[in-house]
Amino acid sequence: MNNISILGNDCCGCTACEQICPKKCITFKENNEGFMYPVVDESVCVNCGACVKHCPVMTTPHSDGVQNVYASKYCDTQKAKESTSGGIFIPLAKSTLEKGGVVFGCAYDENLVARHIAVEKEADLHKLQGSKYVQSDLSGIYSRVKSELKGGRNVLFSGTGCQVAGLRSFLGKDFDNLITVDIVCHGVPSPKLFEKYLCYLGNKLGEPVKSYNFRSKKRHGWGLFYEVETDNIGKGGSGFDDPYYNAFLNCKTYREGCYNCRFANCDRQGDITLADFWGIEYINPSFYSENGVSLVLVNTDKGKRLWKSLENCIESVDSTVEQAVQMNKNLSSPSHRPECRDTIYDGFDGDFDSYVMQKLYVKPSLKRKLKSLVPVSLKGRIKHMLKK
Ligand SMILES: Cc1cc2nc3c(=O)[nH]c(=O)nc-3n(C[C@H](O)[C@H](O)[C@H](O)COP(=O)(O)OP(=O)(O)OC[C@H]3O[C@@H](n4cnc5c(N)ncnc54)[C@H](O)[C@@H]3O)c2cc1C
Repeated sequence: MNNISILGNDCCGCTACEQICPKKCITFKENNEGFMYPVVDESVCVNCGACVKHCPVMTTPHSDGVQNVYASKYCDTQKAKESTSGGIFIPLAKSTLEKGGVVFGCAYDENLVARHIAVEKEADLHKLQGSKYVQSDLSGIYSRVKSELKGGRNVLFSGTGCQVAGLRSFLGKDFDNLITVDIVCHGVPSPKLFEKYLCYLGNKLGEPVKSYNFRSKKRHGWGLFYEVETDNIGKGGSGFDDPYYNAFLNCKTYREGCYNCRFANCDRQGDITLADFWGIEYINPSFYSENGVSLVLVNTDKGKRLWKSLENCIESVDSTVEQAVQMNKNLSSPSHRPECRDTIYDGFDGDFDSYVMQKLYVKPSLKRKLKSLVPVSLKGRIKHMLKK
């Protein structure tokens, strides 16, 4: 057998195989945890091997490694505040739109399902802002990117390392008019789990959930704070106090392949990599901002040229790969698979209230509660003083 069926649990779900298959005999179907996996119609498959050749997990695209590292902030402080980290994604995306190009990234649809979409106008870029801590649906996106590239348009594609690697594998060659931006990633929970969780939250709040922001800066500034909204209610707090978010932060609910991720290292897949610059308050306290600070890795010459062109709207200080890795474990290894992952999805398709209480809910410890009350800027100052 020479098709994607041999991949099994290591599949990252990028859909490159489905989109490359000349016989269209691969479809993605939901497994019992709510993750999508490829299923091959063996009666149509001719074992040509295209799916295997273009799978980023089986044939990982080459990377030259990181060239430059920065701590950075977007000068538009309002936009930075609405973003996850320092808001650097926005000027990168704007530069493509200004050339008449198109930007691909992850947005919520009207049902709060995370999907990759194409954005053509600056006014729509806000849809891509904000990390959605759930696996996004890439159906048909790589084919659309390819047709835009072949038509000569500038394209920026953003996504997790595996999604960018999937695009590169699917395309099979570089395009001068393509810029890729990958984000450092812990791992992704199942879309079905998130859908059920939102429904559960809606029941608790008495009204359907209209928005769920995993990284709201509205109440507490930059950190791991959520904000959930219905038509009449707004509720927010530490991610550690929200059962779904807590399970995510503790690596309990990820796709199996995430624990064996090929892209959790410094051989980055994007021209530019974005992440949170956690710990900037200790390394460079005066650069810390309540609106967030991005970690930026510039990985290719194309990335370097783009970065240089944005000098006027981004505030940056130099950093190093060592500092980046120290603060971001997923730049050196995949997330650790906890033992409870074996059974974490058991029962999630049944009575969801008891599922949440039994599998996801964790009583926040007093230490965690007290820690979350201390502003990050103050933590930095205290650590700085203790060092002296
Ligand atoms: C699942 C996930 C795990 C992450 N884990 C880490 C981590 O361990 N350490 C760390 O430092 N940073 C992590 N990040 C990245 C970080 O949260 C920010 O996305 C990144 O710093 C960019 O911030 P920004 O302010 O420049 O952009 P924003 O304006 O917030 O832009 C968000 C960008 O993220 C993309 N995006 C959002 N949700 C998804 C998704 N579900 N799938 C694919 N792409 C998505 C959008 O397309 C857009 O390009 C993670 C992000 C996600 C989605």
